[in-house]
Amino acid sequence: MNQGEFEFIDKIKSLFQAPQGYVGIGDDCAIIPNESGSETLVSTDMLVEGSHFLREDITPYQLGWKSAAVNFSDIAAMGGSPVGSFLALALPKDLPDAWLDEFMRGYKDISERYGFPLLGGDTTASKDRICICVTVLGRCEVGSTLLRGGARPGDVICVTGNLGDSGLGLDAVLKRVSEGVEPDENAMALVERHYFPYPRVNEGRMLAHTEGVHAMMDISDGIASDLRHILEASQVGAIVDVWQLPISQEARRYCGNYGMSVYEKALCGGEDYELLFTMDAEAEKCLEIPHYVIGKIVEDKDSGLFFANLPDELDQESFIGFRHF
Ligand code: ADP
Ligand code: MG
Repeated sequence: MNQGEFEFIDKIKSLFQAPQGYVGIGDDCAIIPNESGSETLVSTDMLVEGSHFLREDITPYQLGWKSAAVNFSDIAAMGGSPVGSFLALALPKDLPDAWLDEFMRGYKDISERYGFPLLGGDTTASKDRICICVTVLGRCEVGSTLLRGGARPGDVICVTGNLGDSGLGLDAVLKRVSEGVEPDENAMALVERHYFPYPRVNEGRMLAHTEGVHAMMDISDGIASDLRHILEASQVGAIVDVWQLPISQEARRYCGNYGMSVYEKALCGGEDYELLFTMDAEAEKCLEIPHYVIGKIVEDKDSGLFFANLPDELDQESFIGFRHF
């Protein structure tokens, strides 16, 4: 595919208009209205061996956990409650039964922890790669979901937790696989963050019921990319203060050890699965859910996303986040 992922998605979107009352392509989940006054949320995500995980490094338990986690995160991103999931697997014939048992144990543990029962799926053979496709369902009361398009000028921009840990964990994984560098204790903490995301389902639901919260999504590609989706959908601009980004001690230490820019990883690392939301600046002062303010929304949409306090060696334009194509 020569076109970018988002160009392709825009093209698909123009082919299928969502029916009246639905939210279709373009947000973290689709929203389907129910007759009873509630709404159903649906999202699907695929993980492909070699692209999203390395079978030789991730344990099957971790993979089962993570496959579900990245999907539950999209329900969190809308402020929804759990309903259930469907699991479609394409599996190479030589995959050991014990591997599959462990995979399902991880999938079951996170499903029970978050209250998403597995309701169905599909199992098929593949030539040599594992492919995992999860569809997740959630629910919410009519009108209580938080979409990407609600940000307003003057809003503060917030995140629920540290940025960059998961991307650095992936860096440590790649060093282990390709260079044989065993992660030290500090790097292992980052690898854990990469392999065991804890989606913010409770926080998402609480934020959806908090006065003054206007837009929300989860951080899967890094805020440099993800925040741009909020700006586009809301037709606004934003200033992010790089000094205010929440960055863990482990991330700082790891970047120090390897001469990497911790800010670059915090902005572009991806797979943190924290929530990114915008809310009224006054209301934020009373918000009890743990969060960090990282910037503000501005009216001028043409100014796009501006990073204040960006170190000289980093270039504003280079921050686009993770792209699949
Ligand atoms: P997320 O990172 O939250 O999972 P994506 O960036 O993958 O979101 O997708 C953005 C939007 O595009 C979502 O609404 C998703 O459902 C939609 N989308 C992505 N790929 C396709 C596709 N092949 N067909 C239809 N819709 C798609
Ligand atoms: Mg998402």
